[in-house]
Amino acid sequence: MILYDCHMHSDFSSDCEASMEEQAASAAKKGLKGICFTDHMDLEYPNVKEFNMTFLFDMDEDYARIDKVRKECGIKINKGIEIGLRNEPGVSERVTNGYKELLKRDDIDFVIGATHCLDMIDPYLPGYWQGMTVKEALGKYFTAILENVRNNSYIDTLAHIDYLVRYARIPGGDPDKYEGRGLYKDGENGDIIDEILRFIIDHGIALEINTAGLKYGLGYAHPKDWILRRYRDMGGELITIGSDAHKPEHVAYAFEETCEKLKAFGFREYAVFEKRKPVFFKL
Ligand SMILES: [Zn+2]
Ligand SMILES: [Zn+2]
Repeated sequence: MILYDCHMHSDFSSDCEASMEEQAASAAKKGLKGICFTDHMDLEYPNVKEFNMTFLFDMDEDYARIDKVRKECGIKINKGIEIGLRNEPGVSERVTNGYKELLKRDDIDFVIGATHCLDMIDPYLPGYWQGMTVKEALGKYFTAILENVRNNSYIDTLAHIDYLVRYARIPGGDPDKYEGRGLYKDGENGDIIDEILRFIIDHGIALEINTAGLKYGLGYAHPKDWILRRYRDMGGELITIGSDAHKPEHVAYAFEETCEKLKAFGFREYAVFEKRKPVFFKL
């Protein structure tokens, strides 16, 4: 069973309206033993104007709130953060230095390293997909992830490797429809994926299983099965699990079926990070 949800947001994240109290109450009601709040910190987010969102929060306030909620809700609550890594020249170094500064505090349990933006754009916007096939657009994204993990090997887990497919548009297609989703083929860009997986295995970085893909109707969690199999075949064992819930009803989303799949793929345990060290629990 999966009893800890280690990726979720609260209203400290620009794109989430749920309070920590609501998220924690939902987790307790669903029988979880613990959760970790991982609010969004995306230094130099390039599309502040388009979304009127900064994706920044005050860690002192966030963690003080966690201390308060901990006392009230009766389950374990860890202190995490989801940082948005960047590979654009210039931006990359500034952002990495900024995170290293923020992460100097000693009360952090868990750091999720995500790649949300590249080429100075959030690929949630149709502009990213212009002039590229879905294979090229995903390949470019995977290359950015590879560069980001190489430059930020201090992260604890690598977030939602292939989540970008949620927003896949096709050249000349309707920008409001994600017609490119079906064009994400198993094994495509496999050489880059292998390099990412090899790097995280060699550097003790976990691979995140993010169940939000199921919530978005993709039919799979992130990463998709072929990447998960590859990771296991390469000797990868260290995994973290999170729903990426932005709403109380999505806490622990599809954890039962995800647990069965992980076991079928040969995984035996999952990690919950405490003070930046993995503690293992049986699946
Ligand atoms: Zn994310
Ligand atoms: Zn998230």
